[in-house]
Amino acid sequence: MHSRRDFLRNTSLAMGGVLIAPSIDSKFLRSFGNNMPASKLKLSFKPYTLDLKHVFTIATSSRTTTPVMLTEVEFNGVTGYGEASMPPYLGESQESAAAFLSKVNLEQFDNPFELEKILAYVDSVAPKNPAAKASVDLALHDLAGKLIGQPWYKIWGFEKEKTPNTTFTIGIDKPEVVRQKVKEAEEYKILKIKLGRDTDREMIEAIRSVTDKPLTGDANQGWKDKQQAIDMIHWLHERGVVMIEQPMPKEDPDSNGWITERSPVPIIADEACQRLEDVVKAKGYYSGINIKLMKSTGMREAHKMLILARALNMKVMLGCMTETSCAISAAAQLSPMVDFADLDGALLISNDIFDGAKVIDGKVTLYDKPGNGVSKIK
Ligand code: MG
Repeated sequence: MHSRRDFLRNTSLAMGGVLIAPSIDSKFLRSFGNNMPASKLKLSFKPYTLDLKHVFTIATSSRTTTPVMLTEVEFNGVTGYGEASMPPYLGESQESAAAFLSKVNLEQFDNPFELEKILAYVDSVAPKNPAAKASVDLALHDLAGKLIGQPWYKIWGFEKEKTPNTTFTIGIDKPEVVRQKVKEAEEYKILKIKLGRDTDREMIEAIRSVTDKPLTGDANQGWKDKQQAIDMIHWLHERGVVMIEQPMPKEDPDSNGWITERSPVPIIADEACQRLEDVVKAKGYYSGINIKLMKSTGMREAHKMLILARALNMKVMLGCMTETSCAISAAAQLSPMVDFADLDGALLISNDIFDGAKVIDGKVTLYDKPGNGVSKIK
């Protein structure tokens, strides 16, 4: 009896713990517990420009800033935060996002938990616009989690101890700059190297002159000949590269599949895998997929992609763009379930305005804050 009484007391304490945020829960209970008319969902958005700490060069482009759109969805005085990050080469912009978001009418909805219905509507407003759609999805998830009082990794049933080490990305650069960047990245246990130009061997040799950490490689479709690509992958494997992203153009699944069959390391589809329907198409051509919220239209579809890829016995990587901690913290909610994480986006910028999941000692670290675990710091 004694232990049962303790159990009941502890249970009620625990339940009290769930209800700690009175401003949220009293509003939550008012709207849903007393049959009072619920409020409407309200969407707002504003552009913001991220300043990059270093000029960032990949196989196809260079830049020093990233345009983003910051969103908020408000319901009964509770606010969820979202973000669209739009590196120019992906085709979206602050103008296209503003045009899309202006058409999204969330005021027709009064139940923020009907995410399936609301997000199917958002997806139907216009084709494409994956980052703009993600900005609504992220804000809605943050809002719904805050209303429930729980973080999404818990709602999904994941263990926060299982978060992976994140890679830290080294862009294409001169050997002396590469060596310096590797030294600055001392905290990280695994580095991601941008490849796909004619300087690949030079990049790897520069890195290997200063560290023996495991590496991943991202060719960003930059290799044009499958035999040369597989020769390069064997050379990279011998030098401690443990995974390769998108070796050849996404329009050439057969060459990518030919490489995957012969590769000593997993080959991950990135540019070739945008949304849920692409996961099944990637099966047989790639070892796994790189899920990014800005491609998948947000957390809801990213979660479905993760579960489907697992069911298909595929590897899963979780990637990002240069983003604030708003979008990184949202992605981090999925990270306990992935093989590779590349969630360094907020570390590459100098003007973050959110606090959220962090990288500590190279590892993605989740907190118990509800929703996507994000709050504004400016
Ligand atoms: Mg990639």
